[in-house]
Amino acid sequence: MADSLASIPVTMSTLAGRGAAHPAPVSGFWPGIGEALRRYRPWILGLQWLVVLGYATLLVVPAWLPLPAEDSHLWNDISRFAQFAFWGLWWPGVMVATVSLGRVWCGVLCPEGALTEWASRRGLGLPVPRWMKWSGWPLFAFLCTTTYGQLISVYEYPKAALLILGGSTLAAIAVGLVYGKGSRIWCRHLCPANGVFALLAKIAPLHYAVDRAAWEAHGPQKYVDCAPLVDIRRMKGASDCHACGKCSGHRDAVWLSARKPWAEILDVTIKPKLRDVWMLLFGVLGIATMAFQWSSSPILIDIKMSTAEWLLDHGHDLLLQNDAPWWLLTHFPEANDVFTWLDGAVIVAYLVGGGAALGVALTAATAIAARIAGNDGPGFARLALGLVPLGAASVILGLSMLTISHLKAEHLSLDWLGLPRLGLLAAGALFSLFLAWRLTHGVRLTRRIASLLAFAAAPALMAQIWTTVFFVW
Ligand code: SF4
Repeated sequence: MADSLASIPVTMSTLAGRGAAHPAPVSGFWPGIGEALRRYRPWILGLQWLVVLGYATLLVVPAWLPLPAEDSHLWNDISRFAQFAFWGLWWPGVMVATVSLGRVWCGVLCPEGALTEWASRRGLGLPVPRWMKWSGWPLFAFLCTTTYGQLISVYEYPKAALLILGGSTLAAIAVGLVYGKGSRIWCRHLCPANGVFALLAKIAPLHYAVDRAAWEAHGPQKYVDCAPLVDIRRMKGASDCHACGKCSGHRDAVWLSARKPWAEILDVTIKPKLRDVWMLLFGVLGIATMAFQWSSSPILIDIKMSTAEWLLDHGHDLLLQNDAPWWLLTHFPEANDVFTWLDGAVIVAYLVGGGAALGVALTAATAIAARIAGNDGPGFARLALGLVPLGAASVILGLSMLTISHLKAEHLSLDWLGLPRLGLLAAGALFSLFLAWRLTHGVRLTRRIASLLAFAAAPALMAQIWTTVFFVW
């Protein structure tokens, strides 16, 4: 925190106007950006509605059109353009933006966030029920949508995209209409991407820093209705904050600030949450990695072929039927793309089984490293969060595969991509190793080195997986 606040060029205590209804003028680039976000909020709301309009158009229109022709392009077919916009630009772009700017996508541009907040201003305003506060929702929702998305080929077909994204948006509106008042209950508790964004924002070099002393010393000031219901006074990290800028300057104590990307994970005053750890190990690094690579995996084909042979030999050919509806399993005969029940079962087994196995292996490496570090070490949960940069690199690499396949389909030559991919993977792995080293500060040197070596098994495993996907399969 000291790092963050030091980056504000004018100390809080020197700011004039403490106790005034409006925050004092602030200098400095980042605090100024935060102030601009607050001041120009009506413009941002207008921008959010433009994004809602674009999102709805690209989601709904292609779903009612025939599938794009083989020779169509991004620039002359709305379905292809929408596919590229959603999966080639939007998702990888949002991940990159979250790592580099914090959750600014959530607070400034997200159409689902804007809609649920809008609905919540007009809805019943009921209190949030206990079941909705279950800390396992982010991981559970992420696992379900990731697996279901692969079963219905959400990246390929507009109807599938409409079902998953549109369904999520309708659920967000419904939650807004029933719960909360002007808040984003959906985003805080149920959004399937919330857990991923919360993790990636931990290494963002920007956050809203809170000067607790200035806050306490300040006189009463109008309450800030933070849509994701962050306890701003006690806010220390960037995970829960949607970076909307509404609280910029509040009590002369909250300012958008630069920080070191490792500051939050190394901050011992922030208690690590196990729900973040499981989301990272089993969600972002586990099942998401399997979801990105199952379609090119020869292992999956081997499993499928041998299971099919066994089923035929034993007269169980029901699983080889392909009569499932498109909303359950991919069924687009016009594109020669039809899944059998066996395809569906093998994909689920590969994603869930492979994701769980990967998660267990990463957990084991981290737990052993924490054990070696002993009582002077950071403990399992804090050390596991050292893998956040690796998770960020992994998810960006995975999502950018969609960008690349779209561009390759347009005959762009991307043979040079091997090196940048390796570079991103190495950067994520080295950043994670650096965090593990810093987190074990205070541990005896031999133990510290042994702990780092055990921890290094996690980046090594992920590097092995990604290099196999990129250079072997
Ligand atoms: S704490 Fe809340 S009000 Fe402040 S920037 Fe973050 S999301 Fe916006």
